[in-house]
Amino acid sequence: MKAVVYEGPRQVGVKNVPDARIEMPADVLVRVTTTNICGSDLHMYEGRTDLEPGRVLGHENLGEVVEVGPGVVRVRVGDMVCVPFNVACGFCANCERGLTAFCLTTNPEPGVDGAAYGFADMGPYNGGQAELLRVPFGDFNCLVLPDDARERQTDYVMLADIWPTGWHATQLACVQAGDSVVIYGAGPVGLMAAYSATFKSAGMVMVVDRHPDRLAKAEEIGAIPIDDSKTSPVDQVMELTHGRGADRGCECVGFQAHDPQGHEHPNMTLNNLVKSVRFAGTIGVVGVFIPMDPGSPDDLYKQGEIAFDYGMFWFKGQTMGNGQCNVKNYNRQLCTLIHEGKARPSWVVSHELDLDDAPGGYEHFDQRDAGWTKVVLHPAG
Ligand code: NAD
Ligand code: ZN
Repeated sequence: MKAVVYEGPRQVGVKNVPDARIEMPADVLVRVTTTNICGSDLHMYEGRTDLEPGRVLGHENLGEVVEVGPGVVRVRVGDMVCVPFNVACGFCANCERGLTAFCLTTNPEPGVDGAAYGFADMGPYNGGQAELLRVPFGDFNCLVLPDDARERQTDYVMLADIWPTGWHATQLACVQAGDSVVIYGAGPVGLMAAYSATFKSAGMVMVVDRHPDRLAKAEEIGAIPIDDSKTSPVDQVMELTHGRGADRGCECVGFQAHDPQGHEHPNMTLNNLVKSVRFAGTIGVVGVFIPMDPGSPDDLYKQGEIAFDYGMFWFKGQTMGNGQCNVKNYNRQLCTLIHEGKARPSWVVSHELDLDDAPGGYEHFDQRDAGWTKVVLHPAG
């Protein structure tokens, strides 16, 4: 089968690899029709991880079921399914409590809970930027889509990761009706957090970034764009909230954050959030701050250790929630919003490409070239 394969820093190729196949009785085999490039793929693409060359990338996947293992009882051949990026078993103590991002079964690496497709350190699972995808524990992991799935694939594919993750950011930040919310990052995840906050009837949504095209997307859904290359985003939030700070804050950048001059500055967004959220406010962090290179135990930066203004965080009595999104907690309800015509998350999509064009798509998205907000690939052409 054709697949997007990691070859080395800033190098991916579209190669022929052995077909994905049913390996365990509970597996489901999906012919992938729509699969996204994600900001999380850039951790591998930019060479920040120890992902081995040859691995198939892609964790935001949708397609048609073409085969099921003998232990599968719910999902059927012909179903259109969207697959959460978390590979979860459904029966461990964490999955039982809805913590599918921290499944105790699916990652064979000792001491690491949780797995994902096409990801460094998140288990051996190949990704779905390919013609076929093997979905372990398919009955649990596949979200069977309604009958309009084939026509609305670019909406439904956002249920694999970025819409639930944006929603998760607002859940962790406890966003409620009427709240003022500041979101750092107008990438696909930040835009989905802004979208989620508007669904929760936030009173005011502010989105911080510096790319005019991304800020314009935020404005499209009624958010206030804050350009941090002009003046301090903290000052701008303070002014908009009459010196009080936002009620809630969401971090949707991760430790690849830049300062306004474009230099890498991993603690920039966390400390800006502490400053721009009010006393006793709440912060949700979904940007990735994981140890990026377990092979470099002496390099604290690569281990995710960053300078955080804990003193101010404590003084302001703020609360923070963080981590990977448990996609299954949200995807069914968000699916209903799409099916009922109440949501159209595909508004973040800027480009739909054939699988063969993935290398160019990665390059443009990685460079944040103007207009390249979210890239969707169609392996089936
Ligand atoms: P992206 O790289 O496309 O977007 C990040 C945006 O942040 C960019 O537009 C960039 O200009 C902006 N940015 C950089 N520095 C900034 C700063 N100091 N202040 C404000 N904005 C700044 O990525 P994405 O796809 O939107 O993903 C964002 C993060 O979310 C990544 O770390 C990704 O790995 C993570 N993520 C987490 C989960 C989860 O489950 N927690 C799921 C998906 C993605
Ligand atoms: Zn993703």
